[in-house]
Amino acid sequence: MGKVTGFLEYERIEEGYEGVETRLKNYKEFVIGLNAEQAQVQGARCMDCGTPFCNNGCPVNNIIPDFNDLVYRNDWRNAITVLHTTNNFPEFTGRICPAPCEASCTLNVNDDPVGIKSIEHAIIDRAWAEGWVVPQPPKAKTGKKVAVIGSGPAGLAAAQQLARAGHDVVVFEKNDRVGGLLRYGIPDFKMEKSHIDRRTEQMKAEGVVFRTGVVVGDIAKSTKITNWAKERVSPEQLQAEFDAVLLAAGSEVSRDLPVPGRDLDGVHFAMEFLPQQNKVNAGDKLKGQLRAEGKHVVVIGGGDTGSDCVGTSNRHGAVSVTQFELLPMPPEQENKDLTWPYWPYKLRTSSSHEEGCQREFAIATKEFIGEKGKVTGVKTVRVQWEGGKMVEVPNTEQVLKADLVLLAMGFTNPVNTLLEGFGVERDGRGNAKATTEFTGGYATNVPKVFAAGDVRRGQSLVVWAIREGRQAARAIDEFLMGASDLPR
Ligand SMILES: Cc1cc2nc3c(=O)[nH]c(=O)nc-3n(C[C@H](O)[C@H](O)[C@H](O)COP(=O)(O)OP(=O)(O)OC[C@H]3O[C@@H](n4cnc5c(N)ncnc54)[C@H](O)[C@@H]3O)c2cc1C
Ligand code: SF4
Repeated sequence: MGKVTGFLEYERIEEGYEGVETRLKNYKEFVIGLNAEQAQVQGARCMDCGTPFCNNGCPVNNIIPDFNDLVYRNDWRNAITVLHTTNNFPEFTGRICPAPCEASCTLNVNDDPVGIKSIEHAIIDRAWAEGWVVPQPPKAKTGKKVAVIGSGPAGLAAAQQLARAGHDVVVFEKNDRVGGLLRYGIPDFKMEKSHIDRRTEQMKAEGVVFRTGVVVGDIAKSTKITNWAKERVSPEQLQAEFDAVLLAAGSEVSRDLPVPGRDLDGVHFAMEFLPQQNKVNAGDKLKGQLRAEGKHVVVIGGGDTGSDCVGTSNRHGAVSVTQFELLPMPPEQENKDLTWPYWPYKLRTSSSHEEGCQREFAIATKEFIGEKGKVTGVKTVRVQWEGGKMVEVPNTEQVLKADLVLLAMGFTNPVNTLLEGFGVERDGRGNAKATTEFTGGYATNVPKVFAAGDVRRGQSLVVWAIREGRQAARAIDEFLMGASDLPR
C-alpha cells in the first residue's frame, strides 16, 4: 500500500489549470497534470483498503490501489501494465472521466479522496512519452471476421480486444474521422484529438481496419445527426460477409424542445454546434460555421454537453452565455453519510462555467421569440417541483435576449433505422435490447449481432462505453471460438 501514514501526512493535490484568459484564446487542453513527484505523493495517500470501494466505483474496475502503490514506489512501467489490464484508453478517461472512483474512495468519507484520475492521467502520459505503449498484434489469427459499427470508445475498445484475440476486425464509421463523440462532440479543450490518432495507429498496427466515411444502413438528413459518409453498406452485406457484427453506434438522437418558435433561425441542437468546431480545429474549412461571437447565447440543458457549449461559445467570443436547468440548484456539498460510496447529487461547476456563464436553475422555456425568422429571445417561466411534478410559478414569465440557442438536453435513443435494418429488438427506451450477462451477454435477438455502449445502455459515459466494448469483445470471442481468454 502507498505509505502507511501517507493519508495522515499529505493533502490531496489538484491538477492545475491554465488561467482563464490564456485558455479562452485557443482550443488546446489547459489541464496541467501532476509531475512525477506530486503523483507519488498522491499515490502515498492510498490506504489500500481491505475492500477497495474505488475499484468497484470505477466502471472498468481499474485496480486502483495497485497502481497507486506502484506510482508511490516510482515503478511507472508496472503501473501502466496494471492500468492497461482493465482500461484500453486511460488517456481518454484520465482526461474526461468524471471519476466516480473518487466518490467511492474510503478517504472521501471524512477527508478529500485520493486523486485517482490525476494519477491515471500521469501514468498514461508518462507511458506514451517513454514509448511503452506499443502495438500488441496477436500471436495467431483465427480466420474469423468481425464488423464493428461505430468508432466511439465502445467500438474502439471492442475492436482492440477482438484484434488482439486474433480476429480480423473492420470498423465502419459514417463520419470522416475515427472516435465517435470523443472526436465530434467533446471539445478539443477537454481532450485533444491527437490522443485518438495515436491509438488508431496502434490499433492499425494490431490489424484493425478502419473504414471511415461509410454508413451502415440509412440515416435521414432531417435527423440533423452528423453523417459525412460517402459510401453506404447494407446490414445484409455485413451479415453475409462477417462472422459477427457489433453495433457500437451510440445514441445520437438529440432530445428536442418542440415549443413555439422552434423553427426559428438560430435555434440549434448542441450537436450541430460542437462537431463543427471540432472540424475547424482539425483544419477543415467549413462554409457558414455556427458561431457565437457577438451573440447572446442561451444553452438549454444543465449537463456536460451544455457545459461544453458554454466553453465553446466563450472561445468564439459570445457577448453573454446563460445556461438553463429545469431542476432546482443542487446543494453545494453532498451529505456524505447518505451518499458515500455512490455518486453524490451536488452542484458541479465545470471549468467551462468558471470561464463565464450565468447559470439559471428551476427554469423552463415556453417559447422562442423571433423577428424576420431569426431568434431574438427566449420566453421563460420559473418552475418548482411538487411530488416529483413540475409546476409553473405564476407571474414569473420573462423574456431573455438570445441570438443563438443551443439545445443540450441529452439524447433520447439510437437512430431507429440502423436497428430496424438489422431487425434488432429495442428495449422500453428505444435502445438495442441486450443483457450484459456473460453467457449470451451483449447478444441481440438477431443471430451473430451484438450491441454495446450508448446504443445499448443509452447516453452514458466514456468509461462505461469502454467497459461495454471490452465485455462485448469477450462475448463475441466466446461466441466465435467456444471459449475466451479475454478479460472480463
Ligand atoms: C458533447 C458531449 C460531451 C460529453 N462529455 C463527456 C465527458 O466529458 N466524459 C464522459 O465520460 N462522457 C462524455 N460524454 C458521453 C460520451 O461521449 C458517450 O457516452 C460515449 O462516447 C459513448 O460511446 P459509444 O462508443 O457508445 O458511442 P459514440 O461515441 O456515440 O460513437 C458512436 C459512433 O458510431 C457511429 N455510427 C452511428 N451510426 C452509424 C452507422 N449507421 N454507420 C456507421 N457509423 C455509425 C457514429 O458516427 C459515432 O462515431 C459526452 C457526450 C457529449 C455528446
Ligand atoms: S476510469 Fe474513471 S472511474 Fe475509473 S479510475 Fe479512471 S477516473 Fe476513476
